[in-house]
Amino acid sequence: MPTATKRIAIIGAGMAGLAAAYDLNRAGHAVTIYEAAPGVGGLAAGFRAPHWDWTLEKFYHHWFASDNHMLGLIDELGWRDQVLFPRPYTAIYFDGKFYPFDSITSNMPLFLLRHYPLLDVARFALAGVFLRFSSNWKPLEQHTAADWTRRYFGPRIYDLFWRPMLVGKFGEENYKTVNMAWLWARLHARTTRLGTFTGGFQAFLDKLADLLRARGVEIRLGAAVTGIRRTDAPLPGGGSLVVETAAGAETYDAVISTSSPALMAKLAPDLPASYAGSLQALKSMGAVVLVISLTQQLTNYYWHNLPKEAGFPFLAMVEHTNFLGPEHYGGDHIIYCGDYLNPDHEYFSLSKEQLLERFLPALSRFNPAFDRSWVKETWLWKTAYAQPVPGLNHSQNIPPLQTPVPGLYFASMSQVYPWDRGTNFAVEIGRKVAGMVMEDFGSKVSD
Ligand SMILES: Cc1cc2nc3c(=O)[nH]c(=O)nc-3n(C[C@H](O)[C@H](O)[C@H](O)COP(=O)(O)OP(=O)(O)OC[C@H]3O[C@@H](n4cnc5c(N)ncnc54)[C@H](O)[C@@H]3O)c2cc1C
Repeated sequence: MPTATKRIAIIGAGMAGLAAAYDLNRAGHAVTIYEAAPGVGGLAAGFRAPHWDWTLEKFYHHWFASDNHMLGLIDELGWRDQVLFPRPYTAIYFDGKFYPFDSITSNMPLFLLRHYPLLDVARFALAGVFLRFSSNWKPLEQHTAADWTRRYFGPRIYDLFWRPMLVGKFGEENYKTVNMAWLWARLHARTTRLGTFTGGFQAFLDKLADLLRARGVEIRLGAAVTGIRRTDAPLPGGGSLVVETAAGAETYDAVISTSSPALMAKLAPDLPASYAGSLQALKSMGAVVLVISLTQQLTNYYWHNLPKEAGFPFLAMVEHTNFLGPEHYGGDHIIYCGDYLNPDHEYFSLSKEQLLERFLPALSRFNPAFDRSWVKETWLWKTAYAQPVPGLNHSQNIPPLQTPVPGLYFASMSQVYPWDRGTNFAVEIGRKVAGMVMEDFGSKVSD
């Protein structure tokens, strides 16, 4: 071991934890990843039915062509030839029908011209172009997305488009609190071409985990961390931070946690009240997603945005096999019916059979020929921490990656801002926090 080698624990083998481990290992440190789940990948993890060739993400996932941190990492790894970027289509529901919708600067004005006064179309175009091309997001965080879009797009476009989108994503309780910089970032950085890895996200995550293991990173699966504490009496191996699991305690020179903020506040009792309080003050939504495999294609679109007012029992219907063909899934056609919800919503307590009964009647609204005999299999995935809710002036409320406890770092989706969370930004924040640890130890990536 080089003399600069430090023992570093990473809590979480999601994209942030794996990216941090990659850099810290290349800087010569001894890295151990603790992962509570039986596999790597966190929220981006996938699963595979026995007759599928590819894995499928538990929660719908794709990359944007602008995901430079993710694609940059894949380039460094030399795996770019395994990235695919097909061009799936998105639909918007209006007046009982689905219309193609992809970019607010392309076919949306045509759609509006047919249905809305010219003034609304002009406002839509002006405000849309401003959001797409302005890079000055900071003043926007002083306004809620609801107020800003109502004011600049006008009340009719707000009611048609932005309000349903905000309510669907954040619920009636939260949608008025989300700031406009968040919406700016979504519109600014997203592309119509969507990407994945050959074999699915899980194939990429497993390949990265295998590479880390081959380089000496220890990945402990099924190892839930129950506490992170300071110690003045280090255990053998040195270090001033103790990581506790059911299997025992070990000491490290530095610990990076990528858990949810609420869990971090509980795991680390030595955090000062001010930092723990800022973690607890961060708001977020959970997600419930029912995956259904079908014998037949339901629609021609990949993504369907659904207004809650139209009475759909979910926010999004995503026909995955209109993005990546059924040939990868043994001929199955796969749809996701998903929603972002507060963790106390009743959907969190329903079984997949109960949710299927709630959701099935809505499927004939996508295709009147739909029949329940098309349903082959279902899978239900839930998470209490899925989508941060950034309120007004959120930049001032983000807890720093370096906590006040020396050697203890925290990097989560809630600190990704103004961009909406995603694996691209998990790579960015993972590498950023790894860089801070290296700076502390005076080390740097050496290959
Ligand atoms: C419904 C949905 C759709 C999404 N769609 C996309 C998309 O299309 N494209 C995209 O790029 N991103 C998407 N995302 C976001 C993306 O999944 C996340 O931004 C990213 O995976 C976050 O990575 P992370 O490593 O920060 O956190 P996580 O993936 O949450 O990883 C944290 C890990 O820490 C582990 N952990 C937590 N506590 C402990 C503990 N005490 N001990 C040990 N381990 C612990 C967890 O099990 C988990 O594996 C989506 C997310 C959701 C929920």
